[in-house]
Amino acid sequence: MNCKGVIRELSNYIDGELDAVVKQELEHHLAHCEDCTMIVDQTKKTIEILCDSQPVSLSTDVRSRLHETLREKTGQKPT
Ligand SMILES: [Zn+2]
Repeated sequence: MNCKGVIRELSNYIDGELDAVVKQELEHHLAHCEDCTMIVDQTKKTIEILCDSQPVSLSTDVRSRLHETLREKTGQKPT
């Protein structure tokens, strides 16, 4: 496999959906190609960052719901 092949299969490789034989070829290429190792690392990190940002948007949702609940509760309070 060459560098182009690695890039073409990159997302499947990271998703773990790669055929065992193709995966072996890809990893064999990574073992001696620094450029592709770097690309794989960078892509993995980017995906990790994207996944990490998921809970943030979730907690924003939770926070807004919490605010809504608080507003309801404070609204029920007699002033
Ligand atoms: Zn390469």
